[in-house]
Amino acid sequence: PPARNTDGIQSWIARFLNEMGFSIDKWDVYPGDPNVVGLLKGTDAADYHSLIINGHVDVAEVKEDEDWEHAPFHPIEKNGFLIGRGASDMKGGMACLLFAVKLIREAGIELPGDLILQSVIGEEVGEAGTLECCKRGYRADFAVVADTSDMHIQGQGGVITGWIEIKSSQTFHDGTRRNMIHAGGGTFGASAIEKMAKIIAGLGELERHWSIMKSYPGFKPGTNTINPAVIEGGRHAAFIADECRLWITVHFYPNETHDQVAAEIEDYINRLSDSDIWLRENRPVFKWGGSSMIEDRGEIFPALEVDPGHPGVSALTVSHEKVK
Ligand SMILES: [Zn+2]
Repeated sequence: PPARNTDGIQSWIARFLNEMGFSIDKWDVYPGDPNVVGLLKGTDAADYHSLIINGHVDVAEVKEDEDWEHAPFHPIEKNGFLIGRGASDMKGGMACLLFAVKLIREAGIELPGDLILQSVIGEEVGEAGTLECCKRGYRADFAVVADTSDMHIQGQGGVITGWIEIKSSQTFHDGTRRNMIHAGGGTFGASAIEKMAKIIAGLGELERHWSIMKSYPGFKPGTNTINPAVIEGGRHAAFIADECRLWITVHFYPNETHDQVAAEIEDYINRLSDSDIWLRENRPVFKWGGSSMIEDRGEIFPALEVDPGHPGVSALTVSHEKVK
């Protein structure tokens, strides 16, 4: 991804849902990558709950060095398992959703509430297929996302990515390094790369503090990581690095918000910068989020708490027990 090649399967799903009596809304999120939303209007929609069932059609990329016995896009059956790229994540879940729809129609069951099926794009690279459906106005009382799961009722942690940028107001030649780091040099300057190293160390301290002090039921301790994922900086071996950018990926728990977590990081790094003679004058700049990891190199996945006592969760649990 992003191969921008989901139009084929999305057209197939749109046709299938249309045959099942759904009205179809299909639109390009990116050229070649459309979302499909099918609506099966309830017979008594005003008085009954509505349900969204959601899945994504994109799959993770196949890398050169992956050791496939068969072509990854030509699935095979082996020992009762279907093997192929995306069989588990999540053509299997998507097929279950479509099959459930088919069974309901074949059994002649008329649903009183609205049923909305969302087939979305872009999940694997953090693109906002589902968010685009929300922005388009699709809402329901309950939603089931049929992506891979270990069947715990525990909510969903969030992720935010951000850039920390350090920039020097002046650019110095490599030959001036002696003047800025040794006694009597008299030049007030610094390498943005060396200062970023200090910030990376600070992020590590904050990460460790979080792992010790924060927790959430059902999550492994220390799930709330701060990953220094990408670093870019410097201009040439003949200069002191006058800028450096760090792309971080931050995981947080269901009961936290991305704003809160970003503010904690900014506050900590700002205090750290106060204690540094050069960073005090050359403040790091923070840029959080975006709508695509690929297109604008940033993303926010909000967290979600699930109340185990919620009637929708109870209904799902009871149904699952019945068919297990
Ligand atoms: Zn998935």
